[in-house]
Amino acid sequence: MRAMVQTGFGGPEVLSLTDVPVPVPGPADVLVRVAACGLNQLDVLQRRGDVRLPGLALPHVAGMDVAGVVEAAGEESPVPVGARVVLDPSVPCGACPLCHEGRGGHCPNLRIIGATVDGGLAEYVVAPASAAHVLADTVDLVDAACLPTPWATAFHAVVTVGRLRAGETLLVHAAAGNVGLAAVQIAQRVGAHVIATVGSPEKAAALGKIGVEHIASGPDAVGALVAEVTGGRGVDVVLEYLGPATWATSLAALRIGGRLVFLGNTTGDSVTFSLSDAFHRGLELLGAGGYVPSDMAAALQLFADGGTALVAGSYPLEETGAAQDVLCDRSTVGRVLVIP
Ligand SMILES: [Zn+2]
Repeated sequence: MRAMVQTGFGGPEVLSLTDVPVPVPGPADVLVRVAACGLNQLDVLQRRGDVRLPGLALPHVAGMDVAGVVEAAGEESPVPVGARVVLDPSVPCGACPLCHEGRGGHCPNLRIIGATVDGGLAEYVVAPASAAHVLADTVDLVDAACLPTPWATAFHAVVTVGRLRAGETLLVHAAAGNVGLAAVQIAQRVGAHVIATVGSPEKAAALGKIGVEHIASGPDAVGALVAEVTGGRGVDVVLEYLGPATWATSLAALRIGGRLVFLGNTTGDSVTFSLSDAFHRGLELLGAGGYVPSDMAAALQLFADGGTALVAGSYPLEETGAAQDVLCDRSTVGRVLVIP
């Protein structure tokens, strides 16, 4: 089969389209013919060598967010041949104390398809059957490659950790990012109101298309919009992944007893804030942590209810390097897909 194999660390030149053997599934595995693979920043960070997750070994095939059709299944697989599936790239061991506690996202033996073991930038990929989620008939197979990581991450943050409920209001910064787009749509399906911030008119237009009514162009405009939409009360939940650039705005936007869920540090790793303001107002500051398989299943179910997959571009396997360049250009909206 054809695979985009990484043989060193550096620019796109360390990737080469190579003919390799089709992987063989074990008794509890499935072999998936890849229909599309969504790219992630981790693919590029590991290609450059900036990040190397424990277990990464060269040669390596990246590609974490895979949608495809089961071509072969081991005898213990409950997922049949022919099933249309997406793969959850995050595979906890299922046997350690953290897994037993329901914290598989922190499993010390966590394997990540496309990051620590070979992934979906190839015609076929092998995965544990437990990682294969069968798609609803209403979900397009290629669209589904937009889903796994962003939708499971957003569901975990907004619903599992943030406990967002119908009738509440969620504020999402940088909402045109992939996790933001998922969070917005998850909130809509939960029955919550959404206030979004974006950095450009193009991104505002993309959010308008998926039904977001309240959009602030940048953090400076947030306070007034939050006051207007919530009648001065403040929002119930903020999804915060920028860090210092938006932290103060996020705290100020919360109602008394509001929840701040944080899962990123893209503008820096340290913030300062008033302890007395936070404890007097009874704010909950909640680190999101990693999602677990039940988050993935629930997120896929919500997407099947009319969710929109935004695609920034689709590229053939041989143009993976160019596709990764597009991924790194943060002016785009939606997922960058590779179609093997
Ligand atoms: Zn474990």
